[in-house]
Amino acid sequence: MMNPSSYIGRLAPTPTGELHLGHARTFYQAWKRARDAGGSLFMRLEDLDTGRCKPAYAEQALDDLKWLGLDWDGEVIFQSQHPQRYLDVWRRLKEGGWIYPCSKSRKDLRSLPLPDTSDEQDAEAIFPIEWRPEPGAEKAFDTPEGVTWRFRIPEGEAITFSDVRKGEVSYTAGKDFGDFSIWRRDNIPAYELSVVVDDIHQNISEVVRGEDLLRSTARQLLLYRALNAPPPAWCHEPLVRDAKGVRLAKRFHSLSIHELRASGKTPQEVLQIADMH
Ligand code: GLU
Repeated sequence: MMNPSSYIGRLAPTPTGELHLGHARTFYQAWKRARDAGGSLFMRLEDLDTGRCKPAYAEQALDDLKWLGLDWDGEVIFQSQHPQRYLDVWRRLKEGGWIYPCSKSRKDLRSLPLPDTSDEQDAEAIFPIEWRPEPGAEKAFDTPEGVTWRFRIPEGEAITFSDVRKGEVSYTAGKDFGDFSIWRRDNIPAYELSVVVDDIHQNISEVVRGEDLLRSTARQLLLYRALNAPPPAWCHEPLVRDAKGVRLAKRFHSLSIHELRASGKTPQEVLQIADMH
């Protein structure tokens, strides 16, 4: 008899808009890797940003993915249903002295230089370490409310990891990314925190996602370390680009899975278009 596979994967769409070709490709790969490994695959909707996430987008995403032929195990998980889980980890990080309250404004941050990178639209400005508050500033807080919470990065340390598609990848803390937000000023857990909390909670063994998140992986590895949790394996998929090499984003409405379906394309055709770009 075959051993049950220890592979545990997840599909983690954020329901802030329609899924496009890039999602079709990445989610298809995530599904295929889990199924080829004979493992489990969970569906987790990353819907913590209640201002931007809409139930209708969540429904549409599930429907589009099923139409593409993807399936998952168990009930659909919604991050918004487990607020306490993030709060508990915020407290642990605060008590361990890993994070601090930051009262800098958006305007302050806009004045900062962006990290040296050629094609990442998502690169965040490097938060200057001189802007950190006095050590112990976090002790005055019993809840995360009212300020942004940042993770204190180990300046100058190279964060290196192995990726199934890219091989060895390395980013330097303080040069490629700075102290990053783990809790937003509007009292919503930031992506870097919520994704790690759930990937640990669900025992995810491999994370498959777009390569626009490679730099986030370096940040997230610091959270795994702070939380004393073993990180999963990483598989970052190439992004879908147009003929000019420009990355497709949600604003390319006509390339949403929904629209392609409506225009009469089959799931196979949609996956083929996603792969050809
Ligand atoms: N919800 C995230 C996104 O859609 C998922 C990222 C991840 O897989 O870690 O970008």
